[in-house]
Amino acid sequence: MGMAESIRYFRFQSLYTPAGWRTPAYVGVDATGIIRYLDSRIPDGVALEPVAGFALPGFINGHSHAFQYAMAGRAEQHPTGIRDDFWTWREAMYQCAHSLDPDQLQVIATLLYIEMLRQGYTHVAEFHYLHHDKNGQPYSQLAEMGGRLAAAAQAAGIRLTLIPVFYQQANFGVPLHDRQRRFFSANTSDYLKLLDASREAIQRFPGTRLGASVHSLRAVSGEAVLEAIRATPYELPFHLHVAEQVKEVEDCVAHYARRPLQWLLHHNVLNERFFLVHGTHLDDAEITQLPGTGATVVVCPSTEGNLGDGFFRMAEYVSKCGRWCIGTDSHVGLSPLEELRMIDYRQRLLLRLRNPLGAHPAKELVEASVCHGLRSVGRSPSFLQPGDPLDAVVYAAADPLLEASDDAARLATLVYTHSSPPIGTLVAGQWQVHAGHHRLLPAARAAFTEVVRAIFSSH
Ligand SMILES: [Zn+2]
Repeated sequence: MGMAESIRYFRFQSLYTPAGWRTPAYVGVDATGIIRYLDSRIPDGVALEPVAGFALPGFINGHSHAFQYAMAGRAEQHPTGIRDDFWTWREAMYQCAHSLDPDQLQVIATLLYIEMLRQGYTHVAEFHYLHHDKNGQPYSQLAEMGGRLAAAAQAAGIRLTLIPVFYQQANFGVPLHDRQRRFFSANTSDYLKLLDASREAIQRFPGTRLGASVHSLRAVSGEAVLEAIRATPYELPFHLHVAEQVKEVEDCVAHYARRPLQWLLHHNVLNERFFLVHGTHLDDAEITQLPGTGATVVVCPSTEGNLGDGFFRMAEYVSKCGRWCIGTDSHVGLSPLEELRMIDYRQRLLLRLRNPLGAHPAKELVEASVCHGLRSVGRSPSFLQPGDPLDAVVYAAADPLLEASDDAARLATLVYTHSSPPIGTLVAGQWQVHAGHHRLLPAARAAFTEVVRAIFSSH
C-alpha cells in the first residue's frame, strides 16, 4: 500500500525499450527514480502525468573535456599559408586551459552540462586533466578542479563520472613541457593520490562516479601505464586516448616499434574495462583483434571532424561486433542525434553505400551508443526496463515526420531527420529540462558569457 502510493506515473506517447517501441507507455517510478511499472496498459486508479512525446533512453556522453567548451568556435580562423591541424589547435587549447581558475571552470562546466541535458544527454564521462593551479602547483585540495566539475554536474542535474587523468610527459620519452604543467603527475603513486583525492572530493555529490585513466601512450611512460592499469580498481572504467592522429601513431612506432593499439594488445591488458577514445587510425590486424578483447571505442564524430583526425573504420568494426559509444570531446557539437548521423554518413560517403552499418542502422546507433556508453561511465548496460532509472529524452510528438511515423519507422525518423531540440529530459524520473527549459539556464548563460569574455580578453 505504502509502496503503491509512492509511485509516480507518466504516460508517454511512445517509449523506446530494448524490445522496441512501447506505444503508449505507462511508466511508474519510485521515489528514487527507478522504474517499477512499464506497460501499455493503463494502471488502475492512479494519477498520470501525460507526456506529448516520444522517449528514447537518455544519451551517454562518453568523453568530455568541459573547459574546451569555452573555446568552441574560436579556433576557426586559419592563417593563410600555414598548415593548421590538430597540433596547432592544441596550442590554442593549452592557452585556454591556462587561463582558468576553479570558479571559471565551474561556470563553464555548469552551462555545458545544462546544454548537454537540453540535447538529451543524461550522463557524462569527464576526462579531466586540468588538475593544478596556473603555476602547476597542486591546490591545497588536490582534487579541487575535479570537485568543481562534480559541483557543476550536480547543479545542472546531469549524472557525472569523473575520470582524473594521469599525464606525465610531453611525448614518448620527452619530458613534460611547461605548457602542460597543470596536468602533471610525476608517477603512478602521485596519480593514485590524485585518484583518492578525487574519490574523496565527489563524496559530497551523491551519485557521482569515478573512473581511471592515462591520457595516452604518448603522455605516460609504458611502465607507468601498466602500473596504473594494475593499481586502479578493476571496477573503475579505464579510459585513454588511442591513435587519434597519424603523427601519434608514427611517434609510438618510433619509440616502441609498435602502434599504440598494438602495444596494448601486445601487453595483453585490454578487456571490457577499457574505453579507447578515438581509435581513429587502426590497421587491419588491430581492427580484427580489437573486438575480441571486449574493449570499447569512444568515437567523437564532431570533434574528430573538426580536428581533421581521420575516419574510424566503423563499418568493419560493427560487422565484427565491436563495441563503441560516443563522446562530444571538445563540444563543437552537442547533439547526440547529429553525432550518430555523422557516424553513419562518414561510412556511407567513404564506401558509397547506404547500409554500411547493416540492416537496422538506427537501432545499432542508438542501442550501441547507449549500452556501451553506460558501461563507459561505470554502469550496467540496461535501459528503460523495470529496475533501471527513468533517464530519458523526449522528442515532440507534434513534429510532422514523427507524428506520421509508426513504430517501425520512428527510430530512423528520429535519427536521420530530427533536428529540433528535445522537449524534455528526465534524470531519475525528474524533469531536468521541461518544455525545452532548464531552470538555471538564464543565470548560467550570463555567468558563462562573462567568463569567456574575461579569459579571451586577457589573451
Ligand atoms: Zn579527448
